[in-house]
Amino acid sequence: MATPKVAVVGAGVVGLSTALCIAETCPSCSLTVLSDQFSPNTTSDVAAGMLIPHTYPGTPIRVQKQWFKETFAYLFAISNSAEASEAGIHLISGWQVFKNTPKKELPFWSDIVLGFRPMSKAELQKFPQHQFGQAFTTLKCDCPPYLLWLEKRLKATGVQICTRKVADLWELHSEYNIVVNCAGIGAQQLVGDKKLFPVRGQVLKVHAPWVKNFIRDGDGLTYIYPGIHRVTLGGTREEENWSLSPDPGTTKDIFDRCCSLEPSLRGAQDIKVKVGLRPSRQGVRLEREVLSQGGVKLPVVHNYGHGAGGFSVHRGTAKEAARLVGECIAALQGSSSRAKL
Ligand code: FAD
Repeated sequence: MATPKVAVVGAGVVGLSTALCIAETCPSCSLTVLSDQFSPNTTSDVAAGMLIPHTYPGTPIRVQKQWFKETFAYLFAISNSAEASEAGIHLISGWQVFKNTPKKELPFWSDIVLGFRPMSKAELQKFPQHQFGQAFTTLKCDCPPYLLWLEKRLKATGVQICTRKVADLWELHSEYNIVVNCAGIGAQQLVGDKKLFPVRGQVLKVHAPWVKNFIRDGDGLTYIYPGIHRVTLGGTREEENWSLSPDPGTTKDIFDRCCSLEPSLRGAQDIKVKVGLRPSRQGVRLEREVLSQGGVKLPVVHNYGHGAGGFSVHRGTAKEAARLVGECIAALQGSSSRAKL
């Protein structure tokens, strides 16, 4: 097999970054991204894009930590380059505050973000309803610019990008040697994964350029994440809710919660409301599978189910998916050379 043909299904942060890692590690591949939606119409466009990991109960912490570490290192290098503003990546400092001191004071990612420390009494005076807090510096992606930057890099390396809805991965077997499934919540229908479910999230994107620090309530529900142009105010977590329509009552509730953490937000302007469906499961599905019909085989690599933390771990999972694609290519080359003997 001279040039393996690889299709990546999905153009959210996971699909685009996986395609980029495959292009970097398997330059001899002919690579195509197929997706029914692109930026600005993906879940990834709605996200705040903060690098604060979510915990996947079904994935060992050691593995999650490695994914976060790789993602942080990758984005840190971009933030420290001339590409930073085009890619929408920047460092941001702020506070995670708790009404009650958490049992576990150190999250697993505390030694990867920068300068993690308990908040001082003086800092906590800003949050009279909270009794404990952590201060640190992390990274934030402004999501639509980052997705466009990834797309631009893919095109520059010769990757084909096509609009196409895939009804069944098997339909790709006559055109491609390997398929990579990065369909996010779309994987529920695409591969019939009953363990995957939506967790609806509504956020507000507001103009409040004086807010420079992030503030996150330790319960993870209320957060204020300043980006380069707009501040993201959140949020909600509604399991099994598929509605993409903004709810006005929820908008008011989010705004009030955020103003109680940062009263100056009462002066925020140009409030835009966005809704996205987090592709959630106990653990990210990151594995190889071989589909087979009538003796014909199609190797598949799955990389979906990143739930509330896709931006925080995308580069780490993309690298692992690219490694699995490399294994599929080696297996195909092994079987084609055996067939010639
Ligand atoms: P998506 O972005 O949904 O991309 C899936 C792609 O697959 C799309 O292009 C879609 O069109 C395509 N597709 C699906 N089915 C098919 C098909 N059958 N055929 C062809 N194409 C198909 N994470 C963080 O780390 N930090 C945050 O601060 C953060 N904030 C968030 C805030 C909100 C409100 C929400 C909703 C999520 C947030 N997340 C955050 C989570 C993050 O957005 C997701 O984990 C991530 O976007 C998942 O990326 P994805 O590429 O898997 O999915």
